[in-house]
Amino acid sequence: MSLSRRTVLSTAAVGIATVAAANAQTPNAPAGTPQPTRPGRGGTDPGPRNVPLELQNPDIYVPPATDHGTVANLKFPFSQSHMRLERGGWTRQVTERELGISKNIAGVDMRLNTGGVRELHWHKAAEWAYMLYGRARITAVDQDGRNFADDVGVGDLWYFPAGIPHSIQGLEPDGCEFLLVFDDGSFSEDNTFLISDWFKHVPPDVLAKNFGVPASSFASTPDPSELYIFPLPVPGPLASDRIPGASPVPQSFSHRLMAQDPIRTKSGTVRIADSKNFPASITIAAALVEILPGGMRELHWHPNTDEWQYYIEGQGRMGVFASAGDARTFDYQAGDVGFVPFAMGHYIENTGSTPLRFLEMFKSSYYADVSLNRWMALTPPELVQGTLKLDATVMSALRKGPAPVVPA
Ligand code: MN
Ligand code: MN
Repeated sequence: MSLSRRTVLSTAAVGIATVAAANAQTPNAPAGTPQPTRPGRGGTDPGPRNVPLELQNPDIYVPPATDHGTVANLKFPFSQSHMRLERGGWTRQVTERELGISKNIAGVDMRLNTGGVRELHWHKAAEWAYMLYGRARITAVDQDGRNFADDVGVGDLWYFPAGIPHSIQGLEPDGCEFLLVFDDGSFSEDNTFLISDWFKHVPPDVLAKNFGVPASSFASTPDPSELYIFPLPVPGPLASDRIPGASPVPQSFSHRLMAQDPIRTKSGTVRIADSKNFPASITIAAALVEILPGGMRELHWHPNTDEWQYYIEGQGRMGVFASAGDARTFDYQAGDVGFVPFAMGHYIENTGSTPLRFLEMFKSSYYADVSLNRWMALTPPELVQGTLKLDATVMSALRKGPAPVVPA
């Protein structure tokens, strides 16, 4: 019953008596139905209304009193994305068409059944990936004719530079699911360069000339509508897919994120992967954050670019400070995409009773953040104290070192 704790929290915030009175005035509202009211503000919601959605978004339905003004939508659940069903699996995407503010990054959630192949293809955007489930074989060839093949599992990353052709295939025992992140918000998974699509749109005599074989050799090439994500037999061991005489790409296109030692505090962990430790990944930097119950990703911002988030498990809420008195709070759970516009201050609280895990992604060669706490600790105290009128308790609690997840 994942909603129970949030229901209790919002009930506590509003006051049990207020909620009971509000429910009495709302036709057909079962006990415990939230109402858009704080003491002295708001009223009941007679409907029409979508209570399950309101229960998932308690901080949108009854915002904290500190929220104010117009801040763009910073949430889009993959559950509200069109699902493209194919013979070998499925795919869905959250691009700027779904989450309008995300101009730099788009995401795709893809499932490949056992043996299911994402057809040989390339695209204009670079592709970064995080393995969510199962195992996959990935292949690529670079512009100097060097090749790459690897098997990846949960927590592994890959990065294919823009324009580099590649493939993905689901392995035993149950295929795979992964998150793809592209360094262009307008990317569409429906507009990639498919090998079968090109074959279909080249005259057979040109194909014959290109490959030095008779045109009749291409008579049985399938229509692209039968491919894209399609079943093939499960391949043998990785070694059997090595191409004799091929030399490897100089920088691996895969990375074992879970093999890294995380930054660890009492309340969680952070694993950062960017071009410093995953040299191939020159346009996407990422952090995998785990926040234990009661913990919080501290107040901070990023000095380089927007943050695109993917929530893997648990539930949390993010408050975003947009300057000029504007602030807004959003709630997230597994499968949701979150977003923080460039330089806006934010925090992410675990509001559940299980660990909250999510990815922070940036269109950048490097990961960077600025901690509010650390900034204050490293600024002349008279200046900080004189500005905010803080007492000695706060001033002595300021921390000069890193503490991305608090309590530290
Ligand atoms: Mn791709
Ligand atoms: Mn952040």
